[in-house]
Amino acid sequence: MAKSRMLLEAHLKALRLPTFLREYEKLARRCAAEDLDCRDFLQQLCELELLDRDQRATERRIKAAKFPVTKSLDTFDFLALPSVNKKLVLELARGEFIDRRENVLALGNSGTGKTHIALALGLAACQSGYRTRFTTAAALVNELLEARDERSLLRFQKQLAKQDLLIVDELGYVPLSKTGGELLFEIFSQRYEQGSTLLTSNLPFTEWTEVLGSERMTGALLDRLTHHVHILEMNGESYRLKQSKKKSPRSSN
Ligand code: ADP
Ligand code: MG
Repeated sequence: MAKSRMLLEAHLKALRLPTFLREYEKLARRCAAEDLDCRDFLQQLCELELLDRDQRATERRIKAAKFPVTKSLDTFDFLALPSVNKKLVLELARGEFIDRRENVLALGNSGTGKTHIALALGLAACQSGYRTRFTTAAALVNELLEARDERSLLRFQKQLAKQDLLIVDELGYVPLSKTGGELLFEIFSQRYEQGSTLLTSNLPFTEWTEVLGSERMTGALLDRLTHHVHILEMNGESYRLKQSKKKSPRSSN
């Protein structure tokens, strides 16, 4: 008895079935009590393993996405920002745009929830099974420059190309160096019709040249980015500002 248990548990480990291992005794007792046969037992055990496996894969994708914080659409107050198209956001959360390799641009002034929406759409993408990576424009450029210096640029580019959804937050806060702009442009170019990109910016298109450095490159970038694009207009009063006004109504007068 002890030997067969040991063997079974070793086999389950070798087969990488951790949920089988954890649940089989409990489930066996329940099946016996409910008079269910071995086929029901196995079927239920498989179902548990598959559910757990999905859960573990989602957790792995979320970890790999490197979200700085977790935000979801559940905590986004759509009434606070009338300009944002709620229907479009909810549709994007279903992730079909990623299958179609379309892009999303969230544009608007500071504090209107662009990063929140980007994080929430990223989380939804991970939960739907899409490989996702979250970064900011400045951090991505730094990583690209570092990779170039370490002669691992190609490897890093390939790694990014594998992502179903690349989220680049905050284009516009930091002007990029000439090389930085070129490297970023290359990433967007490589993703064109190959993978989805979600980009947020506090700048209108007309001011992108100042960030990227070259008018020609900005034109080419916009051309690619906006070929298959969903635009989220997120202009309005800063949510942060509104919250702090609510907390201390007198200080705003
Ligand atoms: P942006 O990236 O546009 O500057 P953020 O997404 O960083 O703005 O939003 C600033 C803060 O306000 C964040 O903590 C965010 O979660 C919160 N926030 C912004 N808009 C909303 C909203 N409509 N509902 C709930 N929280 C919001
Ligand atoms: Mg932001």
